[in-house]
Amino acid sequence: MVSKENERSAADFFPEDINMSSLADAAASCEGCDIYKNATQTVFGEGKTTAQIVFVGEQPGDQEDRSGRPFVGPAGRVLDEALAASGIDRDLAYVTNVVKHFKWKPAPRGKRRLHERPRASEVDACRPWLDAELLLLQPRVIVLLGATAAQALLGRQFRVTQQRGIWLETELNAKVLATVHPSSILRAPDEASRETQFAEFVRDLKVVASEL
Ligand code: SF4
Repeated sequence: MVSKENERSAADFFPEDINMSSLADAAASCEGCDIYKNATQTVFGEGKTTAQIVFVGEQPGDQEDRSGRPFVGPAGRVLDEALAASGIDRDLAYVTNVVKHFKWKPAPRGKRRLHERPRASEVDACRPWLDAELLLLQPRVIVLLGATAAQALLGRQFRVTQQRGIWLETELNAKVLATVHPSSILRAPDEASRETQFAEFVRDLKVVASEL
């Protein structure tokens, strides 16, 4: 697979034989956009190839970048808790991101690496990996976590706040639902809002659970 002339893309790094393991290996050397330059490693999707449900987030975070695995940091723990609370078997799920490298900027003070939202061109450049994952997995359900993932697959006009927790009309070959990214719950200003937002997240996931 080759991208359009003058446009860098993950497609330029695709293997000849496409399967989940060859894709993950090839993604490890992807230079389809500039994000890889400041990241530790590619964080490809993870889960069983028989997964019925695919959760798509924005990009790996600090801990994911260090470990090379998706959704293992604080947001991943919120997702795990919400899956348990909504009755979704974690083993049925494959977790991935629309962008496979961690984009960050240094904190004004100290050594922390702060999440930086990927640009639309970077999301587009990375999209072939996600498309290939979905093609191989053929999941029954796709859950889009947060605006970047939802807009990548459903268009830039899509608003998670207005259309969360419902089955959406899409051209994807699966039932599709959008909800918030679990990291947004961690950013809630106080414990009461955090609890409310978590309950709303679980309510959205219960819609998914009822389909499995
Ligand atoms: S973010 Fe995606 S397209 Fe950019 S270098 Fe990483 S894997 Fe490749």
